[in-house]
Amino acid sequence: MSELSAEEIAKRERDSAIPFVDLRDGARGVLTWAQMDGDDLADAAIELIGEATRIAQHLDEDSRTIYTVIIGRKTSQFTDKLIHHGADVVYVIEDERLTDYLTLPFTNAMVSAIREIKPEIALMSASTLGRDLAPRIAGILDLGLSADCTSFEVGLYVNRRKNQKFEKAFKMVRPSFGESKLATIVGPWCYPQMATARPGVFKPLDIDTSRTGKVIEFKPEWESKDFDVELIESVRNPSTIDLSKADIMVAGGFGMGKDGFGLLRELVDAINDNGQKAEIGASRAAVDAGFVDYAYQIGQTGKTVRPSIYVAIGISGAIQHLAGMKESSKIFAVNNDHKASIFKNADYGLVMDYQEAIPELIKQVKAGYKFPLDK
Ligand SMILES: Cc1cc2nc3c(=O)[nH]c(=O)nc-3n(C[C@H](O)[C@H](O)[C@H](O)COP(=O)(O)OP(=O)(O)OC[C@H]3O[C@@H](n4cnc5c(N)ncnc54)[C@H](O)[C@@H]3O)c2cc1C
Repeated sequence: MSELSAEEIAKRERDSAIPFVDLRDGARGVLTWAQMDGDDLADAAIELIGEATRIAQHLDEDSRTIYTVIIGRKTSQFTDKLIHHGADVVYVIEDERLTDYLTLPFTNAMVSAIREIKPEIALMSASTLGRDLAPRIAGILDLGLSADCTSFEVGLYVNRRKNQKFEKAFKMVRPSFGESKLATIVGPWCYPQMATARPGVFKPLDIDTSRTGKVIEFKPEWESKDFDVELIESVRNPSTIDLSKADIMVAGGFGMGKDGFGLLRELVDAINDNGQKAEIGASRAAVDAGFVDYAYQIGQTGKTVRPSIYVAIGISGAIQHLAGMKESSKIFAVNNDHKASIFKNADYGLVMDYQEAIPELIKQVKAGYKFPLDK
């Protein structure tokens, strides 16, 4: 074991004299927002409950209840699903007027639920809607908010300036400085400690249909101004394409050129025709070059996906791209440069020109080849 420096010894001695504090004032449990996606639950709803459960295992025993708030018009049909994925208590806020997400009533509903539940931690998705909702809640409740987190930890936090030690501080980790560094944010001075979590990053728990939980119908006091804004129409554009639904993602890079993306689309169509769910993905260089819409960009400044199979064609394997796909179950890389760093992160590699590889793949799929999926 290496010897500690005199400075380190002095620091540890000083830290041991710092008293532990607990400022939670009765705040207990982890709350999540079960976001809807049209008439269905958004994947983020289930992902957040999974992560909340993992976080809660490191909190005090009396703070391990997972509360989930679901808001909408016909939401009680989803309570079982939420419980089967890990929620202990589901707060259902139903109202005929809540056909779609509306900023004001959703904010009021969440603020009321948080005041009622008093959780230690509150998590929302860093989706477009979560990014609208979470800061409003934080503003009204005078809380801090760590946005777009990609991991969470619970552990010792020493604040020497305030002479305070927190035994189980909530540590919210997010990329910063142009996504080149990871920042860990703590805020154990106001509760709940709030964060939004990047969609697609966190794994849901496996479904357990034997789980039981409590369902509470919660009625916030609506204010007349809550419904001042009327939603006349909502239109989905390509940037809301949900890439997370694909089991097989076929992603192209700058090496493909615009024509290469035509071939990629043919491959994806062939896979879908063959009964498997596939979608196109792209590197930022391909998006910047105008080969494909930004909605398909995978990576730190694009989407995060974790399909069963990720096929990366003509993609070099930059760290910013890997950040969005490295959790895929199996990665298959095609590149004509055997030194491309994508091969270091791939389970299978093919050193080949895409113009040879893709037509061959299309041929195999059309002949009935199915990709081996693990989920
Ligand atoms: C702050 C920041 C955020 C970023 N965010 C993202 C992000 O979200 N997503 C992202 O992808 N990148 C992101 N980037 C950019 C990233 O660093 C890389 O520049 C980008 O991923 C490179 O894309 P590429 O691999 O398609 O292109 P290139 O690096 O140009 O690689 C092209 C590859 O194609 C191969 N190739 C060429 N011709 C053929 C052929 N005929 N057949 C087969 N292979 C061929 C080449 O060997 C090469 O490996 C970000 C960068 C920064 C600084």
